[in-house]
Amino acid sequence: MHFRHLDIGQLPRQRKETGWLEVATQLDGGVCHLPFLYVTGRTAGPTLVVTAAVHGNEYEGVETIPRVFQQIEPERLQGTLVMVPVCNVPAYEAATRNSPIDGLNLARVFPGDAHGTITQRIAYFITEKLLKPADFFIDLHSGGMTAKIPTLIGYIHSDDELGKRSQAAAKAFGAPVLWAHPPPVPPGRSLSAATDLSVPSLYTEARGGGYARLDDVSCFTTGVLNVMKHLNMLDGEPQPRLMTHYLIGDGNMDTVISTPAAGYFRADVALLDEVNAGQRLGTVVDPFGEVVAEITTERAGVVIMLRRVHPVHVGDGLAHVTGRLE
Ligand SMILES: [Zn+2]
Repeated sequence: MHFRHLDIGQLPRQRKETGWLEVATQLDGGVCHLPFLYVTGRTAGPTLVVTAAVHGNEYEGVETIPRVFQQIEPERLQGTLVMVPVCNVPAYEAATRNSPIDGLNLARVFPGDAHGTITQRIAYFITEKLLKPADFFIDLHSGGMTAKIPTLIGYIHSDDELGKRSQAAAKAFGAPVLWAHPPPVPPGRSLSAATDLSVPSLYTEARGGGYARLDDVSCFTTGVLNVMKHLNMLDGEPQPRLMTHYLIGDGNMDTVISTPAAGYFRADVALLDEVNAGQRLGTVVDPFGEVVAEITTERAGVVIMLRRVHPVHVGDGLAHVTGRLE
């Protein structure tokens, strides 16, 4: 089924369908399509939007979405479930984080531009057609190729109604690590667009590495179903996994501990290690094994991100340390 003009509010009730969304025309005269899965329930209720592969080389969500879809029957659903398993289709085709067409990072151009390049148009389409009618939004990410991140659920941690609803859903999602981000939300993200529209939202991270671990896919699949139970879209109680870490801090991976020198990076620490202020997290060495930079943390906390790929250029992000909430 092709949707030239998607209007979520006008989808027929009690349906379960897959199709393609027309987003933009291409140079060759073709059309850029986004894959689309939806289930409408017998009765009205919340609209949950779930997206994946906003970064084209993060695959956990790509596997999660069809698994969730398989488990939802219209007769047992209240409301509407709308999912896009691949948002940055050109980047997904090229197995890259950013689009090979315009070089843009989809997670930096929200809310997008109707008259922009392909990545900006995808962001605009998602904002206008999916986020505006949404009552709740989940964006499934992972570490991608260069970064390792623990399996986690993240949300914007604010005292207002939006923050409280996001926090409650994050707990219901039930990942081993819960990561709270105090405002302001860095611009350009899907979650910043959702926040600007007053739509409560969550995002995930996981190990990544160009490979989706089945345990992460399982965690995300159960997590989305848990949030649907939490929102009373499905009957039953959420069954969250045991939470081992409740963390708080800036989730902006553009401003992490970076290297002042090019070379070969090896970390001394592992994900979720507790580190002290001033502690060495790793070293950058030259081809002769001589240390050209010692990478330290100014703050004490928990290691939440480590670079996976050994060769590094000046300014590359190597590690991120965050705080504990509880
Ligand atoms: Zn991502």
